[in-house]
Amino acid sequence: MKTLKIAVLPGDGIGPEVMQGALAVLEKVAGQEGFGLDCSTWDVGGAAIDNHGVALPDATKEGCRAAEAILFGSVGGPKWESLPPKEQPERAALLPLRKEFSLFANIRPGLLYPELVQASPLKEERIPQGIDIVCIRELTGGIYFGQPKSTTELEDGDVEAIDTMVYRASEIRRIAEVAAVAARERGGRVCSVDKANVLETSVLWRKTVTEFFAKEYPDLELSHLYVDNAAMQLVSNPNQFDVLFTENMFGDILSDELAVVCGSIGMLASASLGKGENSHGLPFGLYEPAGGSAPDIVGQDKANPCAQILSAAMMLRYSFGETAAADRIENAVKKVVKSGVRTGDIAFGADAVGTHKMVEAIMAELG
Ligand code: NAD
Repeated sequence: MKTLKIAVLPGDGIGPEVMQGALAVLEKVAGQEGFGLDCSTWDVGGAAIDNHGVALPDATKEGCRAAEAILFGSVGGPKWESLPPKEQPERAALLPLRKEFSLFANIRPGLLYPELVQASPLKEERIPQGIDIVCIRELTGGIYFGQPKSTTELEDGDVEAIDTMVYRASEIRRIAEVAAVAARERGGRVCSVDKANVLETSVLWRKTVTEFFAKEYPDLELSHLYVDNAAMQLVSNPNQFDVLFTENMFGDILSDELAVVCGSIGMLASASLGKGENSHGLPFGLYEPAGGSAPDIVGQDKANPCAQILSAAMMLRYSFGETAAADRIENAVKKVVKSGVRTGDIAFGADAVGTHKMVEAIMAELG
């Protein structure tokens, strides 16, 4: 029997609460689709600081290295906010994990069911059918990592800071490939976002993307937008996009804009794919909800488990090729939410259920 080796990192706050639901759902679909699960659970973030003195203990890293994908909850909370910034849970756990596994592609579905359009700050008439886009962000290159990077006191008394934006054509082709694969599974349309009217890296980006798609994916429809225009289009007519993809900093901003446009953070999943292939010949990846540890609702059975459950579905799809199981989960979540069973964040004042009841409803829908 095919077995999926998963490192489970529940983390802090609502992380462990929603992770429990995701694991129950995974077990159920594993039985239905006939694959096995080999899950090992590791401390990360504040929980790891409390138990081991650091946010990302060696044992956790080892556990992740031995696995084929990471299912991540969320980290952080007020308890660890007074630590030096470098030791705080997010910075000391998530960023090193991204680096360790060369997680170069961040995939964020911007999904808003028509029944939840009230959750979006956009006027309902702009998104009558909800929103369904995927935003793909390059995660390990660009201005966040380019050298030199410095702050210098100048002789004239002024201070100068330098960041450097660097991209190689090979890095651009690698992320373009992820966008192309996603588009093939969806509507076949890809929009590449850059600032080719100003930046050298963007000129290379546009040229490389154009050549790559012409050669490797001529069946897909490719368009280009400048990032300032993309930001405007995302709030004026988000559904014109199918797959949107861009470099690191532009993607940081646009993917957060997309999350806001889609309303509830409790519904949004994400994947960060690595360079390496796992034993299934698919990308190693880290899968996590778009939101944080939500300290304001922790321990109250109020957290929406859907983002974590949908992240588990993305893991099945991207790291294990279990498309039928992923579809099963996504359809079950959609049906339950559409039927009106909802946690407080998406109930709009109507009766809400708690985390446990929400998971139960999804399990029941799975059959
Ligand atoms: P947050 O996403 O945790 O919370 C923002 C708001 O969204 C809160 O009102 C919260 O209750 C709500 N929310 C979030 N997820 C929800 C869910 N599943 N169901 C219902 N409501 C939900 O962001 P924040 O308050 O800025 O950060 C809190 C902590 O989380 C901080 O320590 C921050 O560093 C950390 N954080 C971690 C990650 C991560 O682990 N990837 C991401 C963002 C923030």
